[in-house]
Amino acid sequence: MAATTLHTTDAFVLRTYDYAEAHRIIVLFTRVDGLIRAVAPGARSTRRKYGAAFELLSEVTVAYREREGRELAQLTAWEVKQTRFAAAADPSTVALLGYWAELVSELFPPHQANDPVYRLLAAGCEAVERQLAHGRGDVWRAQPLLNAYVETWLLRLAGFLPDWRRCALCGTRFDHDSVARLTGDGTPACRRCLSVGRLIRPPAHRAYIAIQRLAPNAFLDAFLVQPVEETGLDDLTEANRRLLERVIERPLKSYAVWQRLRLEPPE
Ligand SMILES: [Zn+2]
Repeated sequence: MAATTLHTTDAFVLRTYDYAEAHRIIVLFTRVDGLIRAVAPGARSTRRKYGAAFELLSEVTVAYREREGRELAQLTAWEVKQTRFAAAADPSTVALLGYWAELVSELFPPHQANDPVYRLLAAGCEAVERQLAHGRGDVWRAQPLLNAYVETWLLRLAGFLPDWRRCALCGTRFDHDSVARLTGDGTPACRRCLSVGRLIRPPAHRAYIAIQRLAPNAFLDAFLVQPVEETGLDDLTEANRRLLERVIERPLKSYAVWQRLRLEPPE
């Protein structure tokens, strides 16, 4: 008989979808075992009994059973620790959280614990909700900054973030204020190696360093007070976009949804 293991852990809900006639599958980023997929028995017909345990980026404590050789675990118990009710009322925020959830499920392999990713999700959600409490105007400016923060860290934790201190082609060290260019795959190159292409200016370099030194709320506080064009956000966003496209090899639908909702005028 195949061995069965019971796990109990905290987890973030990344997504759910229907499975067979009566069930749903819940995709979780767990603290002890990273990404897992579990069947929630009967959830398709009696969704209510699972409540917020099925909501995007809810933090839950779950128990699940794994049988050797089976890809799908079996959810046996769940308790909601933290809901995203504030975020759920704002469509562009839901879309942003959906994008982060998709990034995590694309960038990290199943069954690989990664506590920094877990803590990043917690801090990212907390920062989003803090900004929501400030009103729509702030959210408008804060979301792209916060997204650059989360993307940069996810790329770093997944091992795909280039070293921005050196040219990716010749290895020359950049000066503090040097202007680099972006290669097609999102790595920085010096202007001797690359004569055409998008520039990465010093503000983007500063934002990139700040993201890796500061907690998300401290980063937001420091950058929200700067004029948009001095934050380096455009260059950084483009660099992350190219890196993510190279790594994931397809555009993420959730990113396009967030972009569309974000640009809709506030009510
Ligand atoms: Zn070079």
